[in-house]
Amino acid sequence: MKIAVVGLGFAGLRTMQLLEAAGHTVFGYEARDRIGGRCHTVREGEVIYEAGGEWIDGDHQRVLNLMRRYGQEPLATPSSPRRLIFEGKESNWDELWGNPAVRGDVDRFEERVEAEVGQIAEPDSHLQRLIDESVVTEEGRWYLTAMYRSDEGDDLDRIGRNGWFRAYENYANREGGELSAFRFPHGASDILDRMAAEIHGPMKLSCPVSELTPTGTGISLVSAGGREEFDAVVVTVPGAALAKLTVPMDISASPIRQIPLARAIKITFLFRDRWWLREGWNGSLMYDGPLQQFWDGGFGETAVLQAYVTGSEAENWVTRPDGLQAATAALFQQFPAARESHLETRMNDWINDPWARGAFSYMPVGFASTWPVTFGRIYWAGETTAKWNGFIEGALESAERVAKEIAECQKPSHP
Ligand SMILES: Cc1cc2nc3c(=O)[nH]c(=O)nc-3n(C[C@H](O)[C@H](O)[C@H](O)COP(=O)(O)OP(=O)(O)OC[C@H]3O[C@@H](n4cnc5c(N)ncnc54)[C@H](O)[C@@H]3O)c2cc1C
Repeated sequence: MKIAVVGLGFAGLRTMQLLEAAGHTVFGYEARDRIGGRCHTVREGEVIYEAGGEWIDGDHQRVLNLMRRYGQEPLATPSSPRRLIFEGKESNWDELWGNPAVRGDVDRFEERVEAEVGQIAEPDSHLQRLIDESVVTEEGRWYLTAMYRSDEGDDLDRIGRNGWFRAYENYANREGGELSAFRFPHGASDILDRMAAEIHGPMKLSCPVSELTPTGTGISLVSAGGREEFDAVVVTVPGAALAKLTVPMDISASPIRQIPLARAIKITFLFRDRWWLREGWNGSLMYDGPLQQFWDGGFGETAVLQAYVTGSEAENWVTRPDGLQAATAALFQQFPAARESHLETRMNDWINDPWARGAFSYMPVGFASTWPVTFGRIYWAGETTAKWNGFIEGALESAERVAKEIAECQKPSHP
């Protein structure tokens, strides 16, 4: 078959690989002037850091296998307890301010989650309420909110309870320690480049697709390069970014369009040297200040500290005209030692990115747990459609599903 793949992030590239391996003739279309979508490694001489997706959980086997397939050993991340600062008081996630009442909050929340997993609440509620109803201390409330806000990428009163529990089942059988256990040793873009190098079909960059229309025998696709007919089309565009793509009514009216991507951004601080190591700190911190969370985002000798900010606070950073100066001032206020080594501050605004409109998907309040992802000869893929939604793992998972569906529909017995 002659098949178009719209969007060349992890889902699109993997789909192209799998469809070509199955003998199809495949054409890739990408709106940006680069591949990778929401994964992008900034590589400027000595300076290397991830602008988008970065962390790989220990049980994300598809991503880990992909790295190994290209001869790369996943880069293990240090597992020391993260520093916490709340109302000026410092602790870490093992000690929780040495306060048994805070530990009690965490235990109560976790017990409640274990008790309620698999149950559907009618009406739906949100994750912040689940936390608020479990805690008695301010520290406990802040700690649980900060941890889960970091995972979900947005304010927790936007995260639907039922959808969150559905995703939680992915984690239920974990033994611990798997979260954010690895990174790509040479950056995500290195793997993306290697994937692209194996693909034979053309990959058109800076070529947004603007219209998909079913014809009697296939799909007519309109892109910046003109109109072309295909037997089938795989779309990996997140529904939140569909404003620029006209699709048939059954798709535009489907829940795909309503799946939001979290308001998460990265603010990257470049330094002359990794001054935090001199202070006996590995760069990892969660605090109640406006930059929310830090980690050492560098590769090798690159001296980069990244702030990962989510929800309304992220919206605030990308909206204010003095965002970069204000973020730098907030950094210096928290870490006076940063001033001497500081070179530059940059911001990756995924919220206003026209080809994403956010960082990764979550299930909002009241959202159905499953919905159609195949519409005749238009197949929907991308992390938003996966069991591992929100993750690079989900993007790869969706590619496998679509390749299987296309193989199934070719069998002679298929209607
Ligand atoms: C700040 C941030 C932090 C993250 N952290 C992590 C993490 O630590 N771990 C993790 O696993 N995941 C993380 N993610 C999520 C991860 O990056 C995504 O789940 C994954 O990259 C999604 O891949 P995809 O191929 O499904 O979608 P995308 O990468 O969004 O690919 C879709 C492609 O479609 C293109 N496109 C859009 N519209 C059109 C159009 N009309 N025509 C043609 N092309 C179009 C886009 O440009 C894009 O390239 C993070 C994301 C961000 C932004």
